[in-house]
Amino acid sequence: MSELARYRGALRLRERWLCLELCNATVDWHASEHPVEHIQDYSDLVAWGREVGLLGPQASAELNALAAKEPKTAGEAMTRLVNLREVCYRTFAEIAHRRTPVAGDVAELNRFLALSLSAAAVTPASDGFVWSWQAIDLDWALWPLTRSAADLLTSDELDRVGQCADDRGCGWLFIDTTRSRRRRWCSMESCGNRAKQRRHLQREKLGRGRRSREMP
Ligand SMILES: [Zn+2]
Repeated sequence: MSELARYRGALRLRERWLCLELCNATVDWHASEHPVEHIQDYSDLVAWGREVGLLGPQASAELNALAAKEPKTAGEAMTRLVNLREVCYRTFAEIAHRRTPVAGDVAELNRFLALSLSAAAVTPASDGFVWSWQAIDLDWALWPLTRSAADLLTSDELDRVGQCADDRGCGWLFIDTTRSRRRRWCSMESCGNRAKQRRHLQREKLGRGRRSREMP
């Protein structure tokens, strides 16, 4: 289990923060009435950890084996993680819309934080020290995620948190790194492009309407 990646490492994150990555990668249409959940069983969680670089192959295999041996505990750990994700999602979505997060969610996050910090440690690395988590168990994902959420909440990037403006409920959370701070979409290729096409179609319709009214 020594492979459990350290917090400060080469993680593969699309929006810079682990807590946002989890919200974006493991649920589709998060802001819609019918979100699509991708964490169906414990191995999905391990696969996600592997994908972002939190887990190596050996830790992944050991966690999957442990989950198979203790399915009830694994199920409870998964539920805790999904709860933490939803707390993060609601909190950062409120912040993205310049609203104050619900007090109950912040309290819940603090409960997770207390739980997580009891398992956190600092260990020497080649260029100083890094955060690590000594105890290895089925709750491995809670610790780096809680810390990531706490770090983002207290960072100067907090006012750059935004959410995709897609009207179907894409829900993607992002860090707006543009100079103008006018980012609106998860990506221009998907929701941004769709919005552009819709605007184009509306203009076309409007144009056709005007033209038909001008006809004798
Ligand atoms: Zn989107």
